[in-house]
Amino acid sequence: MSNDVLVVAEIRDGALKKISLEMLGEGRNIADQLGGDVQAVALGHGVADVATTLAHYGAQKIFVADDPSLENYTAEGYTNVLANLVKQTRPALVLLGATTAGKDLAPRLAARLAVGLASDCTGFAVQDGEVLMTRPIYAGKAIATIKEAGRPYMATIRPNIFAAPEADTSRAAEVENIPADAGEIRAKVLEMIMEAGERVELTEADIVVSGGRGLKAPEHFALIEELADVLGAAVGASRATVDAGWKDHSYQVGQTGKVVTPTLYIACGISGAIQHLAGMKTSKYIVAVNKDPEAPIFKVADYGIVGDLFKVVPVLAEEFKKMKAEG
Ligand SMILES: Cc1cc2nc3c(=O)[nH]c(=O)nc-3n(C[C@H](O)[C@H](O)[C@H](O)COP(=O)(O)OP(=O)(O)OC[C@H]3O[C@@H](n4cnc5c(N)ncnc54)[C@H](O)[C@@H]3O)c2cc1C
Repeated sequence: MSNDVLVVAEIRDGALKKISLEMLGEGRNIADQLGGDVQAVALGHGVADVATTLAHYGAQKIFVADDPSLENYTAEGYTNVLANLVKQTRPALVLLGATTAGKDLAPRLAARLAVGLASDCTGFAVQDGEVLMTRPIYAGKAIATIKEAGRPYMATIRPNIFAAPEADTSRAAEVENIPADAGEIRAKVLEMIMEAGERVELTEADIVVSGGRGLKAPEHFALIEELADVLGAAVGASRATVDAGWKDHSYQVGQTGKVVTPTLYIACGISGAIQHLAGMKTSKYIVAVNKDPEAPIFKVADYGIVGDLFKVVPVLAEEFKKMKAEG
């Protein structure tokens, strides 16, 4: 068993997702403390350029599995390739993103390897050669420190928690092509449908503007979208609006939706139920717009505006527009 940390890079449309860089940064910290290297594995088709970028961001060794059968993510195919790699290279820790694909892949890979998995981690420490992982539990009400029973340790990392390292284009790394043996894939990807008009991926966005039942009708999400457009933000939604069919589930923030950690989260007409907070409480700055001064969202908000969102949100959009115009 080595002391290396293996980062499973996440790739979309041939480019690395931001979480891959964040994992390399934290992976490097952990590997330094363990006395090992940070390595990365890229799966896909035509991913040679990605290997170069991984090296720029600090990967010391890169494994590439390049095959048409891996072009689209499938849990079965990716698990087969990764399980073989981990069995052969025996890293100390395997890191994946706590993204939609990572949440699907990591448990299957952990089960295949018969190891534990700490999901949605927000912190790591190394003590006496062992990796301790911290993660929020009970919808963010408590923080657990987890020590897995045996190596390789496995964890998924919450996006936007760790800083991506600076790129150094002079860095090069050893690249090893590994067998892209996806095995039998029983689920076939027939079509990928990208959401129309999606600005920024919700879990990766630096700013998120979310709407709740206070919007009163689906068409009023236009207010949220306008503010999001001005800020270059992603749009989120509470479950009440998703359940009402105003927004697709992919917009839902919370315990049964997506977990976001943007620099700025603006909640408009959202009461702040514990299940919603579970998805956004770790945002760096929270702004709440709600007409009820007793709304629980104000307990977690850094800035609160008590008022009618139909008046406040257009003013915010207008003021931000002016600020941007003034540079
Ligand atoms: C197992 C489980 C899982 C759940 N998972 C999630 C989840 O993942 N995400 C999630 O969001 N919820 C989740 N919920 C639901 C959650 O408990 C709440 O019901 C939901 O978050 C409420 O959504 P809301 O804040 O939009 O609506 P409400 O609670 O109805 O709040 C609407 C808010 O809008 C304000 N308002 C009304 N009019 C205006 C106005 N004109 N201007 C300003 N403010 C106004 C009101 O004061 C109120 O605070 C879950 C529940 C369960 C039981």
